Amino acid sequence: TNAIRPLIAGNWKMNGLKASLAELDAMLAGASAVTAKADLLVCPPATLIMAFAERTRGARTLAIGAQDCHPKASGAHTGDLSAEMLADAGATAVIVGHSERRADHGETDALVRQKAEAAWRASLTAIVCIGETQQQRDQGKALEICGGQLAGSLPGRATAANLVVAYEPVWAIGTGLTPTVKDVEQVHRFIRDSLESRFNGEGGKIRILYGGSVKPSNAAELMAVPNVNGALVGGASLKAVDFLAIAAGC
Ligand code: PEP
Repeated sequence: TNAIRPLIAGNWKMNGLKASLAELDAMLAGASAVTAKADLLVCPPATLIMAFAERTRGARTLAIGAQDCHPKASGAHTGDLSAEMLADAGATAVIVGHSERRADHGETDALVRQKAEAAWRASLTAIVCIGETQQQRDQGKALEICGGQLAGSLPGRATAANLVVAYEPVWAIGTGLTPTVKDVEQVHRFIRDSLESRFNGEGGKIRILYGGSVKPSNAAELMAVPNVNGALVGGASLKAVDFLAIAAGC
């Protein structure tokens, strides 16, 4: 399944101002050199989606995504953004169920599933994040936790076009720590088996990203692991030189 075309997705989190258009321009300038190896997606804060999408329109080498969406299409939900609004702004994908949203906003698997369904309603690809905490790993529960999150967070009717799964061990996010290659291989194999048993042949084609302290120096090793079909990159996606170097490692 390493024949699946990799996706390198950048999650800018709550970082980026209009001045960051210069960094996007640097990514665009270098994107064609790496698109033979991987698809590129940048998920800036929502305030920059429209400007980024307008800047990349026609480039086709770099897509723009969002970091969250509300389950509903519109209505009385102050401060929230619908998948339809994100699509209208030029996003083609949306991250749902990131561990920071699960932790900071109490998002449950059931809510994440509704958000993924909302993404599909708006023709966006849903990037559904799962992953265990350090305590859960120490208790030997990593697979059990990931299995439960997959079962609860993924809607039916998933396809390789509308779903990307991101395995992000919570303890590896922003810490500089990464699981061993063996541990990554084990969890990704488990996710692949789960996708195949639920979605049959299609489950063999859905991209499974690794996320958590991916940087240029460890990307090639992680991207070579069986069933790792790209990366979800936080901190290292803010700089074009790092983001492009990670993609070059595919
Ligand atoms: C993330 O939050 O999706 C992430 C992977 O962050 P970092 O790369 O900074 O660990």
